[in-house]
Amino acid sequence: MNSSLNAARRLWELGEARTDVVDVLVVGLGATGAGAALDAASRGLSVAAVDAHDLAFGTSRWSSKLIHGGLRYLASGQVGVARESAVERDALLRFTAPHLVSAHPYLLPLTPAVPRARAATVMAGYRLGDALRAAAGTPRRLLPGPSRLGAERALTLAPALRVDDLRGALLSWDGRVVDDARLVVALARTAAAHGARILTRCRALTLAGDGARVRDELTGEEFDIRARAVINATGVWAGGLTPSVALRPSRGTHLVLRPGALGALRAGLHVPIPGERARFALVLPQADGRVYAGLTDEPLDGPIPDVPEAPESDVAFLLEVLGTALDRPLSRADVAGAFAGLRPLVDTTDTTDAAGARASAGGPTADLSRRHAVLRSPDGVVTVVGGKLTTYRRMAEDAVDAACPLARASRTARLPLVGAGPVRPGTPGRLARRYGSEAWALRELMRADPALAEPVALGITRAELVWAVRHEGALDTADLLDRRTRIGLVPEDRAAALPAAEAALAYS
Ligand SMILES: Cc1cc2nc3c(=O)[nH]c(=O)nc-3n(C[C@H](O)[C@H](O)[C@H](O)COP(=O)(O)OP(=O)(O)OC[C@H]3O[C@@H](n4cnc5c(N)ncnc54)[C@H](O)[C@@H]3O)c2cc1C
Repeated sequence: MNSSLNAARRLWELGEARTDVVDVLVVGLGATGAGAALDAASRGLSVAAVDAHDLAFGTSRWSSKLIHGGLRYLASGQVGVARESAVERDALLRFTAPHLVSAHPYLLPLTPAVPRARAATVMAGYRLGDALRAAAGTPRRLLPGPSRLGAERALTLAPALRVDDLRGALLSWDGRVVDDARLVVALARTAAAHGARILTRCRALTLAGDGARVRDELTGEEFDIRARAVINATGVWAGGLTPSVALRPSRGTHLVLRPGALGALRAGLHVPIPGERARFALVLPQADGRVYAGLTDEPLDGPIPDVPEAPESDVAFLLEVLGTALDRPLSRADVAGAFAGLRPLVDTTDTTDAAGARASAGGPTADLSRRHAVLRSPDGVVTVVGGKLTTYRRMAEDAVDAACPLARASRTARLPLVGAGPVRPGTPGRLARRYGSEAWALRELMRADPALAEPVALGITRAELVWAVRHEGALDTADLLDRRTRIGLVPEDRAAALPAAEAALAYS
């Protein structure tokens, strides 16, 4: 079946979803829900999957974009979580999304804030992480081992580092995804190729074990989708549909720094957070020249917003932490934008957790387990929550196993996502990293209509916007600017690109 998602397919499949009874209804199309739709559809089950907004509307687009091997979980004794992360990272790097996920180097600058004994402990941790890599089967050529660099070499990779007292740096490697929202789009399209009906702008109003009351957010019409099993994958919003699920959301803020704010940065940075033993701020150079820097971990009380705000206090905190490692402290003027996401952390204190996570009530959210939970409510709805982007596949598999115990085994560990095929020689690197084997089709589009080769922002062409409308399910300008591309992370870039996004919608 075709993997293309667009307005016409949505309309057609919406009609079918109202009359058929499907094997599985998945609610929420972040990484977990899109992964569950793919897991179920590729087992041969019939699937409808709905999202109140768009693909990757929730937390999945606000991550640090690390596909991490779980090193930090080792530090807190969560060996199972660490092993699972390394195995899932391997699947993404080698089999399912090698076009979107790659290895990236990180430096921990050795300054007086990192005394020798601490540096030795961190290095021992990196070596354990490397052992997890080996155990997961990831070859060194894909993910090199850690090493120690002298100050001169560290400065060639990160010229903005403070030179005074720099003893060198610890170099480690981990996975990262080129864009978290693109991973979700690839999952949803691969699910669609296996026959799943992917329905955005469809809000579940109520859930039961045999289906959901749904509202089409474009027309306001309400209807039922009937299903033999229901999976709630609405992340931080899960408790709104399944009240027995208890979450303790925590806000993580990232800054978007202007290109060049940190010079020619060729590696990510781990910057120790003063006063914390095992927490680091992250600096993550992006392929488009922007640099993301994060990240906070603040408990959130009260109602859960659709799009969390990054407060100025988080911005000031991050600038201060980064300043401790840099030659020139950053100022507010270096910040082009900021974004925040809410971690859907499971409050295991009053929840029966199928995955065995434990946490103490009222403690800091940074200490809560990152293990996912699969929870069955009395009416039979299966909720899958917690975890992380890296482990979306395993979460999806566990959820489908719980919801459909008679289904055949999951196939997704080796199932390539859309775009994972060979890239044609001569394909520009930027297109190859975002579209993989589909990049050639974008080039064809530009060849047929040279006006589409015109750049919109950050090297993104009009052709990419048109492609998103025709094949990636973009229905409006926000889908185009905020999720199919990330132009919208910087408000002035977004305003400048808006006319091009409006024009692209006419190509549907
Ligand atoms: C700041 C931050 C940084 C992170 N960094 C990393 C990282 O680097 N690496 C990593 O592996 N993990 C990271 N994580 C964790 C990871 O991002 C999340 O665990 C993961 O994205 C959660 O995905 P999800 O699909 O479960 O939820 P979401 O992505 O939030 O998806 C839930 C979806 O449900 C939809 N929805 C809600 N209510 C309804 C309804 N009533 N009807 C229909 N749809 C509905 C929403 O629109 C949304 O699209 C980070 C998290 C945060 C907050």
